Amino acid sequence: MSSFTNTFNTYNWDDTLQSIFSKTESDVLRALSNSKRNLEDFKALISPAAKPYLEDMAQLSRALTKKRFGNTIQMYSPMYLSNECQNICTYCGFSMTNKIPRRTLTDAEILKEVAYIKSKGYDHILLVTGEANKTVGVEYIKNALQLIRSHFSNITIEVQPLDQKDYEELIDNGLFAVLVYQETYHRDEYKKHHPKGKKSNFNYRLETPDRLGKAGIHKIGLGALFGLEDWRADSFFTALHLKYLQKTYWKTKYSISFPRLRPPILAV
Ligand code: SF4
Repeated sequence: MSSFTNTFNTYNWDDTLQSIFSKTESDVLRALSNSKRNLEDFKALISPAAKPYLEDMAQLSRALTKKRFGNTIQMYSPMYLSNECQNICTYCGFSMTNKIPRRTLTDAEILKEVAYIKSKGYDHILLVTGEANKTVGVEYIKNALQLIRSHFSNITIEVQPLDQKDYEELIDNGLFAVLVYQETYHRDEYKKHHPKGKKSNFNYRLETPDRLGKAGIHKIGLGALFGLEDWRADSFFTALHLKYLQKTYWKTKYSISFPRLRPPILAV
């Protein structure tokens, strides 16, 4: 079955990085002036040669955003349903081996949170869970959607990657969008940071947006966790992924997030 993996496998990480670093000032100027930009233009804009043009890019980006959205900003509220997790991710506080109190909200607790979020005026919500099939599997998420769907205009989830049939079932129960971040597109580095649990399966995660597209989801959110590997290469592969998805599942809408790792701030 065709998926992004086929496209992805035709690229090499080091060659991609080298290609980004070889971009010149004239590549950057061409990319800035092009009315329609391709992936080579994107490489130029994230290359070291583009550093003096950050302000130009910011102005261009602002103009495009204004043209597309005007002054409208859409806000949503996250709601954490559970911090149970069966994965080990080296950078996450919810990681399975961390000795922390674990909680999963009951129906009554979910509705209490909903009442509070609604009282603050939010109409869009993001449901977040760790990846624990037994406690927060498809049935739990389906139940949460059924509980809250009448309260919100749209509901997004950021939970464990699922099979196509599961997504279809959740869409039938009011699911609007799914956020699924690849974390890093560098296979070996991915393995290092996700040594245990379902998330250690790089390809299953990589193909999640394909399963969502096939299930007919309204919107998919992509992203890489900047700080795990070279941010330029991870940005490029995120763009490549987006381009593939837009072409393949053209009815679906897309968003890109920029989660990033920051050095811990230690209390003094
Ligand atoms: S799967 Fe998600 S919640 Fe679980 S440890 Fe990894 S990043 Fe944290």
